[in-house]
Amino acid sequence: MAEAALQNARAAHSGAAAAEEFRNYIDGVWARSTSNRTFDNVNPADTSDIAGRFQASTAADARAAVDAAAAAFEGWRRTSVGVRAKVLNRAADYLDAHADSFAKDMTREQGKALNLAKDEIVRSAQCLRFYAVEAQSLTGETFPNDDPDMTVYTLREPLGVVSIITPWNFPTSIPARKIAPALVTGNTVIFKPSSDAPLSGLRLAEAFIEAGLPKGVLNFITGRASDVGPAITEPDVIRAISFTGSTAAGEHICKSVSFTTRTQMELGGKNPLIVMEDADLDKAVELTVKGGLSLAGQACTGTSRVLVVKAVRAAFTEKLVARVKALKIGSGMTPGMDLGPLATAKQLETVLRYIAIGKREAALLCGGERLTGAGFDTGYYVSPAVFADVTQQMTIAREEIFGPVIAVIEADDYADAIAKANDTEYGLSAAIATRNPRYMHDFARDIQSGTVKINRTTTGNLLNAPFGGLKRSSTSTFRESGRVGLEFYTQIKTVYAGC
Ligand code: NAD
Repeated sequence: MAEAALQNARAAHSGAAAAEEFRNYIDGVWARSTSNRTFDNVNPADTSDIAGRFQASTAADARAAVDAAAAAFEGWRRTSVGVRAKVLNRAADYLDAHADSFAKDMTREQGKALNLAKDEIVRSAQCLRFYAVEAQSLTGETFPNDDPDMTVYTLREPLGVVSIITPWNFPTSIPARKIAPALVTGNTVIFKPSSDAPLSGLRLAEAFIEAGLPKGVLNFITGRASDVGPAITEPDVIRAISFTGSTAAGEHICKSVSFTTRTQMELGGKNPLIVMEDADLDKAVELTVKGGLSLAGQACTGTSRVLVVKAVRAAFTEKLVARVKALKIGSGMTPGMDLGPLATAKQLETVLRYIAIGKREAALLCGGERLTGAGFDTGYYVSPAVFADVTQQMTIAREEIFGPVIAVIEADDYADAIAKANDTEYGLSAAIATRNPRYMHDFARDIQSGTVKINRTTTGNLLNAPFGGLKRSSTSTFRESGRVGLEFYTQIKTVYAGC
């Protein structure tokens, strides 16, 4: 059945070479939207290139996906964990086998460098394999009691229908780390990727379908949040929503869903790197550049504020500016580029707006320009910007920019740096560059952040360790990734078994 479904999908994809049309996958069928409309997925490195046409779905399409997931739940929850794990392993094999072509799809629709895109596909396959193993030892507990003829224990069971809603910046790995634990624990899924990178989401869905999921277990739907969002978040039948995206959208969804719907929201950040007086400054510069500017600054955990202790502020800033000016900017398809384009026209507009604000508030030391000329004119390219003399009150120190913009903020000492680092509504990731064990120890204790890095970039997280933010970076209900990532998708029953 999966093969038939795929043939159906491929037939749907075999339109004009320049802009293929891709379909939703609902109840085991690759289907057009009832709207009969599509939207274009534009290549941010060359806006004349359309990476695909996707269904502009309606609320009716979304309801069909929810109904299919609900109908499939009983059958799927009764399959053994071994069967479900095999599906994940086969999907992982499929991703690995297609890693080169899926990476090209990702670079074409999202802009990131091809090697990073391939890493993401391979890492997503690893994530599926991790959950295939981890779910098989997900256990309950037993409870001693005074009745010799009674055993008391907990059972973990799936929740039911879950909606998975994801952003464009990690368009395969973020959905993979949500869908894999959802499916392997016996839930059925509606997956809505971002309209700005739906092809990578479709490839992931394709991997699961090819792996032999029964119809209705995974439903893939594209379209505008305003059209499909309420139908996949608000009905009571949706037992859980795992969302990654902006704090504004996450907050809106949280407020509009039923109180019986479990939510897991991974949201925005304004991630600080503290550079202490004893830091290796060259290393601190590398942490800033890699953490803040790879993916053109479009990582949720990307470094956007660098709090540098006064004694080394000037030396650090001089090294940073020299390094940033030397970065190579170009298409993700060209090997050796340090930064690609911004992912969307909206991103370009937002980043340029913040740079304009920054120019009024602080001192622009380099970059911050829309790039023009050969290779740049048809893409959303901005040169990475470094601002100095930034203070806590400034907009560029407070709001998430999500682009290649670094704000350097001077701190008097460790206490001042920590106070400034914590003076934000966000708490996703934070790092410190130091050789002093005292600072390392204190930083892990003092920083208000879900991810804490010592002499490492704010970006990057293990798939076998918990991930999530504090404050307004997350609902802090359930963590993603690792073993705890399974807990979100299961509920506990306590059984009193007497005889
Ligand atoms: P976004 O909030 O605009 O959209 C994210 C997803 O939610 C998209 O699929 C979108 O269509 C959907 N959506 C938006 N409103 C919705 C609604 N009312 N109902 C249902 N679906 C809705 O975010 P984006 O621009 O795609 O991504 C960038 C943001 O994501 C940044 O703020 C970034 O920090 C954050 N992010 C966070 C993490 C994390 O793990 N904390 C990871 C990556 C990105």
